[in-house]
Amino acid sequence: MTGSLTIAGLGPGDPEMTTPEVFAAFADATDIVGYAPYVARVVPRVGLTLHPSGNRVEVERARQALWLASEGRRVVVISSGDPGVFAMASAVFEALEAVPQWHELEIHVLPGITAMLAAAARIGAPLGHDFCAINLSDNLKPWPLIEKRLRLAAEADFAIAMYNPRSANRPDGFARVLELLGEAGCGDRLMAFARAVSTPDEQIRMIKLREARPDMADMRTLVILCNSATRRVGRWIYAPRQVR
Ligand code: SAH
Repeated sequence: MTGSLTIAGLGPGDPEMTTPEVFAAFADATDIVGYAPYVARVVPRVGLTLHPSGNRVEVERARQALWLASEGRRVVVISSGDPGVFAMASAVFEALEAVPQWHELEIHVLPGITAMLAAAARIGAPLGHDFCAINLSDNLKPWPLIEKRLRLAAEADFAIAMYNPRSANRPDGFARVLELLGEAGCGDRLMAFARAVSTPDEQIRMIKLREARPDMADMRTLVILCNSATRRVGRWIYAPRQVR
């Protein structure tokens, strides 16, 4: 048997938002590797081995998947959303880089609907003009870099999609983010808090930045700060295509 490694995104939650290509990869797989809550979203079957693991072990998980593939297994590594957005694809390539004999393995990356796109679709078109995405966790980068990127993105009037806004380990960072964006003159900009999009727990809140409170976000929330031209139309908001 020739082994292969597929890095797949499950989308934001609802299986309707998982692509047919990803389901086809599951049907052909011998092994599924991933963070336990995501592995729980894969329907078990005879001949498919599930390998759930903990939250902060991305590179170990990637190494395990590569090793299984090198042994001839057909392995699918899963992430939520898109696997290339703050997720497993980079961890797999990092593990691959260290072991030259793995470089010739057959590898596929299957895209998924990332949280910011699912969230944006719920509220209208907040990403219809120029935008950027930032991970607010400082697990893998220094906090001053997060502040610098936010300040410059605010100054450039990008819409800003914020992943990992707040967790039990990092209760205070998001309060600082709101303060910083207020100081950067974004108080009147629209802001969306999209929680658990496409799951039964979905909750969407639209306010202005000056009304935002840190406890409006948690680890299941995607936050979008809209650009200054973004406006409401009925119950929707949209970023105009043209900015002068
Ligand atoms: N690869 C994923 C992102 C992983 S980082 C993707 O492309 O979506 C995890 C962060 O993604 C969470 O802290 C949250 O900010 C966001 N997120 C993931 N799923 C979400 C959902 N269903 N609703 C809202 N935010 C979500």
